[in-house]
Amino acid sequence: MTQLTGSCTCGAVTFQTGRPLMRAYCHCAICKAYHDRDFADFTVFATGRFRQTGGGPVTYKVFKQPPLLRRGTCDRCAAPILEKLFIPGLPRMMLIPTRWLSTPEAAPAPSLHMFYDLRRQDHADGLPKANGYLPSQLLFARHLLPALLGRSAAHP
Ligand SMILES: [Zn+2]
Ligand SMILES: [Zn+2]
Repeated sequence: MTQLTGSCTCGAVTFQTGRPLMRAYCHCAICKAYHDRDFADFTVFATGRFRQTGGGPVTYKVFKQPPLLRRGTCDRCAAPILEKLFIPGLPRMMLIPTRWLSTPEAAPAPSLHMFYDLRRQDHADGLPKANGYLPSQLLFARHLLPALLGRSAAHP
């Protein structure tokens, strides 16, 4: 069982993860604002073994309806730290900005770019790229579901 740990900038929020499911890049406007970065680099974890180990308060906000994603920031340092993903019919998941992992090099390799049409720079990395809402969600699901169901890789 791969377990990773991490924390926000101030250290008030610490966590221990379960198995990483996948990692992705998102270029959407909400991610850019929430992460305060040119794009989001996040890793998805199943919540079964996920534990917030440091009791720092986290405030969750929903930026888009329906409320599939609740984006949490540390009350003390305002770091975007924990994002709760709930897709009806699937196990609950947690998204963590990859940079908050104590060993980011232990995260899976990124699988894809979402909302690539909103990018600030080109990324010539050979990864699959999707533009717009529905194609981005479908590309994400195509990589997430096999990981969630314990299969090795997504093949289009
Ligand atoms: Zn903090
Ligand atoms: Zn996004």
